[in-house]
Amino acid sequence: MVKLCFITQNQAQTKKLGQALAKKILKKTPARQAVILGLEGDLGGGKTTFLQGFAAGLSLKERILSPTFVIMRRYKMQSRKRETKSFYHLDCYRLARPKEILSLGFKKIIADPRNIVAVEWAEKIKKLLPKQTIWLRFQFVDDKKRKISIKQ
Ligand code: ADP
Ligand code: MG
Repeated sequence: MVKLCFITQNQAQTKKLGQALAKKILKKTPARQAVILGLEGDLGGGKTTFLQGFAAGLSLKERILSPTFVIMRRYKMQSRKRETKSFYHLDCYRLARPKEILSLGFKKIIADPRNIVAVEWAEKIKKLLPKQTIWLRFQFVDDKKRKISIKQ
């Protein structure tokens, strides 16, 4: 397991970190399942901000809004090959039970190697996330500083 720790001083730095991770993931050889990011930690910790940068790193042009009220949003990615890749952004904050996520076809989504899946409040569905999940923890240091640790 590799653990990396970063302190960001502002929103732009958090976005940049997200962008860098996306680029790194795109360079990796495709796996047999989806790439999954599990984001956990403080409210206002920067999870959505990080994923806005992450989406930019995937070359998505759409504005990434927090999916808190819809639980899940799907964005289609441009792909050099003919297959369509998708970026799924989930927010489990409002989930009452982990199982609710299954009705959205979650199992199928994470099994598909064409998908990149990012889950905010991932601690709420921890038992449904596979071992290869990249875990990111967001901590509030002060109004501008955030501590972000990445575990894989
Ligand atoms: P979460 O999704 O974890 O609840 P958001 O990304 O929605 O968090 O909100 C983070 C808030 O904190 C935003 O209002 C953002 O402007 C502010 N902020 C201040 N400093 C930072 C930083 N270093 N990184 C990320 N966001 C920051
Ligand atoms: Mg959020």
